[in-house]
Amino acid sequence: MSFGIDDLPVRDELRGKSPYGAPQLDVPVRLNTNENPYPLPEPLVERIAERVREAARQLNRYPDRDAVELRTRLAEYLTKTAGHPVGVENVWAANGSNEVIQQLLQTFGGPGRTAIGFEPSYSMHALIARGTGTGWISGPRHEDFTVDVPAAEKAIAEHRPDVVFVTTPNNPTGNAVPAEAVLALYEAAQAAKPSMVIVDEAYVEFSHGASLLPLLEGRPNLVVSRTMSKAFGAAGLRLGYLAAHPAVVDAVQLVRLPYHLSAVTQATALAALEHTDTLLGYVEQLKTERDRLVAGLRDLGYEVTESDANFVQFGRFEDSHAVWRKILDRGVLVRDNGVPGWLRVTAGTPAENDAFLDAARDLKKEQE
Ligand code: PMP
Repeated sequence: MSFGIDDLPVRDELRGKSPYGAPQLDVPVRLNTNENPYPLPEPLVERIAERVREAARQLNRYPDRDAVELRTRLAEYLTKTAGHPVGVENVWAANGSNEVIQQLLQTFGGPGRTAIGFEPSYSMHALIARGTGTGWISGPRHEDFTVDVPAAEKAIAEHRPDVVFVTTPNNPTGNAVPAEAVLALYEAAQAAKPSMVIVDEAYVEFSHGASLLPLLEGRPNLVVSRTMSKAFGAAGLRLGYLAAHPAVVDAVQLVRLPYHLSAVTQATALAALEHTDTLLGYVEQLKTERDRLVAGLRDLGYEVTESDANFVQFGRFEDSHAVWRKILDRGVLVRDNGVPGWLRVTAGTPAENDAFLDAARDLKKEQE
């Protein structure tokens, strides 16, 4: 028997658990991790090279610990696109929104504290809770995957969590949470504790509706988290950020590692922010493709959850994993998120989506 994890003195709550991991398989069409299928445009690649070259000349020094220039540009982007004034003092950035969420849980969660999410939702919220020693409470949703607000309010009143997660548009289901529902949960969370409410808007640029950023006004316990991984087509960059009351930005400084955002990351993100207009143009194409996937799947007789994201949840299947495998056999990788009866497909290029719809059509024929 070889020496393994269980032979090490790891924390009890990590024993027998598996790490997060969508399969990274080498297949022709990969529509499984909600990435943007479009490589960055060449002028942006050139600009990144230029900015990184400049940064490289100073790599003997630590980077700007407070990432002031980057946070200023992110604040400008939010102000322009969400129609709500956001300043550098409202914005914080880290290595992916996963790290933003980790810093928030290190600050507001932790041993003896709890966080609630309404599941199925983004599985990393629960995993980061575990990693930070925060207790996890799985809150309810309706059958159609919308948030069951009265049941959620009840769960918040009963458990009095320190952190409430609301993912909108939600992953893996795709549907957005209306502002009124978020407000109701915020009120419930303030009455119960008060606690922090984290609105995870990783996919908001793909939404039919508006960002919930304006809700920050007068709500210091609300945080909106965002990422450059999806709409900006920069999943490899690892850049996430949040907008909140300046006190929240001050609070996360207590847990962030010094110089956590490398000079190379900051330079690359700044270059990308010079090209937001082009990148948001791709978002428009992807929204059209997402709507085509929804319509195409419905035409074929599948059930589809309403989508405001760059992916679509479809079903229903008696054995979704067997269907996942059959789609994979046709060269298309989609995602089995473990939601019984459902699978998720990311909107790719028109050709990739055609390949997926062809596979979905084949499967229907097979069943007839
Ligand atoms: N939030 C949600 C809802 C997500 O789906 C993801 C990525 N799958 C993230 C956050 C994390 O994204 P990143 O760390 O790449 O910013």
